[in-house]
Amino acid sequence: IPVDPFDLVVFGGTGDLARRKILPALFRRYVAGQIEGDVRLIGAARSEMDATAYREMVREAILEFGGDEAGRKTELAAFLKMLDYVTLDAKGTQGWADLAAKMRTDRICAFYFSVAPSLFGDLAKRLHKHGMADDESRIVVEKPFGRDLETARALNRTLARHFHEGQIYRIDHYLGKETVQNLMAIRFGNVLFEPLWNSQYVDHIQITVAESVGVGGRGDYYDSSGAMRDMVQNHMMQLLCLIAMEPPAKFEPDAVRDEKLKVIRALDPVEPENVVRGQYEGGDAQPGYRAQVENADSLTESFVALKAHISNWRWAGTPFYLRTGKRLKERASEIAVMFKDAPHSIFGADAGRHHNILTIRLQPNEGIELGVTIKEPGPGGMRLIDVPLDMTFAEALGPEEADFPDAYERLIMDVIRGNQTLFMRGDEVEAAWAWTDPVIAEWDAQSDAPLPYASGSSGPDDALMLMHRDGRRWREIR
Ligand code: NAD
Repeated sequence: IPVDPFDLVVFGGTGDLARRKILPALFRRYVAGQIEGDVRLIGAARSEMDATAYREMVREAILEFGGDEAGRKTELAAFLKMLDYVTLDAKGTQGWADLAAKMRTDRICAFYFSVAPSLFGDLAKRLHKHGMADDESRIVVEKPFGRDLETARALNRTLARHFHEGQIYRIDHYLGKETVQNLMAIRFGNVLFEPLWNSQYVDHIQITVAESVGVGGRGDYYDSSGAMRDMVQNHMMQLLCLIAMEPPAKFEPDAVRDEKLKVIRALDPVEPENVVRGQYEGGDAQPGYRAQVENADSLTESFVALKAHISNWRWAGTPFYLRTGKRLKERASEIAVMFKDAPHSIFGADAGRHHNILTIRLQPNEGIELGVTIKEPGPGGMRLIDVPLDMTFAEALGPEEADFPDAYERLIMDVIRGNQTLFMRGDEVEAAWAWTDPVIAEWDAQSDAPLPYASGSSGPDDALMLMHRDGRRWREIR
């Protein structure tokens, strides 16, 4: 269904994120027929260029990052006609009057802040000053949203001076992933799982976001951030919330976000013995972390594993184990709900003991798998084995339906539709920082370095111990 006509300004429209993600996503939605009619997409950035040069830059970006659709020459030519460009200084006066003159008031106006967070306040203030911030306009802000509770609060306050909460779309692209939304469909659209979704039946939950690459060219940005800020506070926290939250009464923005917030507020502080941080070493002709960042003595973590407890009626006694890192064995993200053993095995010890596992795979091959126990086929007696009931979407739905839109496609269309369900609310972000801040403060107070781990491994051994001492094991990263 096409969205209503809109004008979208991409501040930072010449930057890496705009070229790799935002503009290709808009193009794919155009090819899909969701963007049509009189729409203007205006790049606004510091570089001096005119609209023709900007169109050429975007054409090249789409050819490089647009996927299969990039070959659609006629559509690409038509799409590029929607583009315009303004040279603008977020901190000065240049370009603002030009931009205001281009915006039309009879439609939805959205402003994507794809610039450094230090400029968010300047943009909000000038949008207001130049009469572009009416009650219907929307702003989209990228991560990182602050670097701790204090800075996130300050940022929320700054934005709130010119925009109300219903206009602010804080992006976490994990929430735009098809499988993440499917997690809610699985939980709240079936009767099968919800009765078992609690500490009585769930032994523990594992959330893994493993990357095989290192910090690459983003070393200096990453070094000022680290895995806790870059991954745990936002993406992993969002996954944790969706897994653990109570059923909202309606699938509506505030109903869903209220429930997520309750989860974050119910998290116990993380005890120092329940968190492990690591930093990758070099190997196989690959440089180690410290060789890739400016500070050769950096104490920034490229890996975190931790055990979290949610102190509420549903989850008391069920630990949530989270781990994320760079330069791990494989690029693989999943949530695994590990159910308890059957209370009694009628088949005897020889048959083996098994338990159900529900795995929600985010990458690669998005899909959901339920491990069930069956009899091993054949005449060998009652021996049990685990087999997957596999719901890999590409197989179940056919390749066409499983050709999911990229997270950015969905999220940008939600901005235009005015649906905030998949965006983080200000209080959620603050609550998440309030939980991660003490862990980071504890690290800052020590002088110990993160534990080294080999590139291509599963992280430091202490992360394995975090599970072993509870009589549990991480799932293989694959
Ligand atoms: P970038 O450095 O590639 O681009 C920055 C853009 O901002 C450029 O278009 C530049 O012209 C513009 N800009 C800088 N100063 C300006 C000023 N004073 N006035 C107007 N425009 C100005 O950055 P990026 O990688 O595209 O990141 C943009 C935002 O997205 C950042 O907040 C970043 O944290 C976030 N982000 C980026 C990625 C990514 O993969 N690149 C991922 C997640 C979040």
